[in-house]
Amino acid sequence: MNPKIIIDLNKFTDNLDYIGKKMKAKSLTLTHITKVYAADPKIVKAADENKYVDYLGDARIENIKNYPQVSKPKILIRIPMHSEIEDVIRYTDISFNSEISTIRFLNNEAKRQKKIHKVVLMVDLGDLREGYFDVKELHKAVAEIVTMTNIQLFGLAVNLTCFGGVIPDKGILQKLVDYKNSIEPSYGLSLSMISGGNSSSLYLLDKDGIPEGINNLRLGEAIVIGKETAFGQFYDEMHHDVFTLSAELVEIKEKPSVPFGNIGMDAFGQKPVFVDKGQMLRGIVAIGRQDIDHLGLVPIDKRIEIVGASSDHLILDLTKCKKDYKVGDSVRFYMNYSALLRAFTSKYVNRAYIQQQYNTRNFFYKKGDRPIVLCHH
Ligand SMILES: *Cc1c(COP(=O)(O)O)cnc(C)c1O
Repeated sequence: MNPKIIIDLNKFTDNLDYIGKKMKAKSLTLTHITKVYAADPKIVKAADENKYVDYLGDARIENIKNYPQVSKPKILIRIPMHSEIEDVIRYTDISFNSEISTIRFLNNEAKRQKKIHKVVLMVDLGDLREGYFDVKELHKAVAEIVTMTNIQLFGLAVNLTCFGGVIPDKGILQKLVDYKNSIEPSYGLSLSMISGGNSSSLYLLDKDGIPEGINNLRLGEAIVIGKETAFGQFYDEMHHDVFTLSAELVEIKEKPSVPFGNIGMDAFGQKPVFVDKGQMLRGIVAIGRQDIDHLGLVPIDKRIEIVGASSDHLILDLTKCKKDYKVGDSVRFYMNYSALLRAFTSKYVNRAYIQQQYNTRNFFYKKGDRPIVLCHH
């Protein structure tokens, strides 16, 4: 039933293979992040079965809790809340942390559950989201962690281009390696994971810009949309339509392009502005802002333009499509990161899985023809 996300599992696997090979060639391990698609169990299973995936990660403990049976280590990549400590120990192998008070709770709970929990410390290298900013505080935390009975310090990680829009480069990532090099001898440790960021670090792979010592990247968006996120470049070699949206036309009518009467506010408290394009063939598909970020939708049929959306209706300009569409037809859309996030969390959007054999690839986005979107997390 519409609306639905059409999920092509072969294309997903193809994208994982493409990036995975690139990573292995540079001796990097791959943490695949499942939050983009709300850890849909069938997709998680495909990722778990992919030989290039070393770890599975998500920001939400609920998502990890609902993982199907997987063989790869599970990482909670958002700093844990004190109120979720018990689940973190129970359902994950590794968690990303930046507060010693939280790590103490993790240690106590791990003791209670008779487990050894692995911790990766987040370091803030200027993006000003999460992580240790002060080196002294970082060292103090390490000094305490090494005395804990049920916590193993597993590594260091940085997150960039998420809040501050800082683009990773070799110099920034070298700082993370420097931290590793100062911590390891001081505490007689060997850190297993030095994670150099998310899909915005991917462009460095092609430029030999990842310094020696970084051995992991955490990738979500790059895998499912087929692009790096530092500059918003799409990979020609990847599929950009792993996920597409199908929504159904419930009305098609010829109407003017500008409303009449006194214009007040729309349903979202904003005063709308309209361009007069004369008479228009307008279509309404049954999906709205409650289900989707309409600003992140791109109709696959290039003749269609999106006019706007309210809570439950998406209005399309079908003028250029002549009589090709009728009520009851489905209209297909590409989705950006923000549209994907909302579509996968809306209970009103269904999911259909296909495993198509394909000979030709659909490259909707030509390299570089979309705006740079730096912050999407
Ligand atoms: C979301 C997230 C990622 C993955 O980011 P993408 O841009 O989707 O690759 C990696 N690390 C952290 C900490 C995140 O929150």
